[in-house]
Amino acid sequence: KDFDLSPANATCTTCPYCGTGCGVLAAPDGAGGLTIKGDPTHPANAGRLCSKGSALGETVASDGRLLTPQIDNRPASWDHALDLVASRFSETIAKHGPDSVAFYVSGQLLTEDYYVANKLIKGFLGTANIDTNSRLCMASTVAGHKRAFGTDTVPGTYEDLEQADLVVLVGSNLAWCHPVLYQRLAAAKATRPNMRVIAVDPRRTATTDLADMHLAINAGTDVALFNRLLSEIHEQGAVNAEFVTGHVTGFDAALDAASSTDVTVTGIPHAQLTEFLNLWIRSERVVTVFSQGVNQSDHGTDKVNAILNCHLATGRIGQPGMGPLSVTGQPNAMGGREVGGLANMLACHLDIENPEHRALVGGFWNAPNLPDHAGLKAVDMFRAVSEGRIKALWVMCTNPAVSLPQADFVRDAIANCDFTVVSDLTATTDTACLANVVLPATGWGEKDGTVTNSDRVISRQRAVLPKTGQSRHDWDIISDVARRMGWQDAFDYSTPAEIFREYAALSGLAAAQGKDFDISGLSDLTNSEYDALHPTRWPIPTRGTSGDRMFADGRFFTPSTRANMLALTQSSAPPAVRGTYRLNTGRIRDQWHTMTRTALSPRLNQHTGEPFLEIHPQDALAIGLKAADLTKVESRHGYAILRVLITDRVRPGAVFAPIHWTSEYASAGRICTVIPSATDPISGQPDTKAAQVSITPFAPT
Ligand code: SF4
Repeated sequence: KDFDLSPANATCTTCPYCGTGCGVLAAPDGAGGLTIKGDPTHPANAGRLCSKGSALGETVASDGRLLTPQIDNRPASWDHALDLVASRFSETIAKHGPDSVAFYVSGQLLTEDYYVANKLIKGFLGTANIDTNSRLCMASTVAGHKRAFGTDTVPGTYEDLEQADLVVLVGSNLAWCHPVLYQRLAAAKATRPNMRVIAVDPRRTATTDLADMHLAINAGTDVALFNRLLSEIHEQGAVNAEFVTGHVTGFDAALDAASSTDVTVTGIPHAQLTEFLNLWIRSERVVTVFSQGVNQSDHGTDKVNAILNCHLATGRIGQPGMGPLSVTGQPNAMGGREVGGLANMLACHLDIENPEHRALVGGFWNAPNLPDHAGLKAVDMFRAVSEGRIKALWVMCTNPAVSLPQADFVRDAIANCDFTVVSDLTATTDTACLANVVLPATGWGEKDGTVTNSDRVISRQRAVLPKTGQSRHDWDIISDVARRMGWQDAFDYSTPAEIFREYAALSGLAAAQGKDFDISGLSDLTNSEYDALHPTRWPIPTRGTSGDRMFADGRFFTPSTRANMLALTQSSAPPAVRGTYRLNTGRIRDQWHTMTRTALSPRLNQHTGEPFLEIHPQDALAIGLKAADLTKVESRHGYAILRVLITDRVRPGAVFAPIHWTSEYASAGRICTVIPSATDPISGQPDTKAAQVSITPFAPT
């Protein structure tokens, strides 16, 4: 069957997986699925798609979807379910105070959903207890950006990758986790023989295969590496004195701290280290890409700032082909940041602990109850659930019983919570199974709104399929609950366009306070203009503008307009416990998060059929493991049973496991059960790459 997938005839929408944010053309295939093609007009991908994006059409069938609300596992009417949610939240707040309730949301939500959830809980329920699974993904980058730039601003664009002379990938398996960006990088490298790529990663991956040089760094020693680079920049006279003098504070202290750092902890051979340092310093156009290997650490914020320090010292920021570039894991991690979806932020990059910002947002929302303190971040939130301090919890579009560290602890906490609501596509996720009320939310092909990708491009996500069963959009569900709690006017939304216009208008007020996120030029879009909105990079201060790179004028969003360099020290690793291995976790190419969608695609399931543990041949021999044996991976928090994959991609003493499998797909495959809940003290992001685990052969009985 031929389908007309020209942009004029197909629906232009956006891929719901990684933060690359590729444009997708989609049309119903007449058999319940979709025919999919990359959108050639979208700036992120210019028609490219990866395996996950191209299989989207296989993941939208209505089989297994939740069709009606459920209360205690029984079908219920929307009226009954939403009345119950509204009354239980109201009663809990009346009895125990606003901080006894919480929302745990997701980078899968559209910006409009995120905005309304944030408005309800912070503006009207009176607590900032809203956090997101993006806390697991890029919170350290947010904190690092704010420390250096005064705001959470991504300076560069994807085009910089293609224009750079040197691209350094730190803690990023771009080939599998942001595959279209990797394709763009590989294509640029193929046509520009002088371009160099360096990968910094303890593990050999599909990405390190592309690199001219792989620095197999000792895990967790990135601060030492970039501190050494900062010292070398100074020693070689490569500091951009004019930029530092005019636009930076903290240089001397940062250099002092860097100069006393012992780089040998990185384990990088001297000759290779020297080559890296010289190449970085000699290459004017350098882009440093960083991702979860940097962020998911108990000192991830320092790692981020160690990278930013080097770009600030050389003035390699805000110009074509140069700068730091954080790539986010989720499709709308960036949009969530913009609307204040983290417990310590307000909408439009305003700060909850700033009285002027609170007054501005409270006045704009006409909100009676804005809290004056940050809420609980993800790990602390579920600790509070376990301790009974949070008594009513609403989980939207995510699966914390699988994805958070100490997943068994989190699962038990949710099971024992007085009242839990889950809005999701199915009632069968590990988390939804524990809920008192499960609400059917619309899925990717049915949703309508906007998302923002890693280089600040706002794209429309458009419905291409009718809603399944009685499912409703997340913003609509949240608004209905808000109205039932008594706030009719503030939540009187009937379209996502109204919500978009509102927060675009708020962004203009935030910009007047010196904030970066300004899309006020879109605040008067008509509904049809919103429908037709093309991908647009912020800031958009006036109609018809589209933002390009930030900081081109050397002005930052601090009170002095100068960027801050930070004095950083390499934290020492905890002593290794004898007989344990350091567990690194991450994604595989063809599954997404907890597999709720990707596992529906036979094509994607062919890539890797079951959870596994990568282990070095030397360690496998010592433990007595042969290829494809089952093994028990255990810490004091829990265990997982995985099949071993013996490979020298990991180093002796280190092992790797993917994060995706849930109880639904592998009864003992939830690797996050073994991960402790250590977090970065600044960002609150969990360290999911350094669990100490024991490994023993496992024989099923
Ligand atoms: Fe989707 Fe990311 Fe693949 Fe693009 S690279 S198609 S956004 S998963």
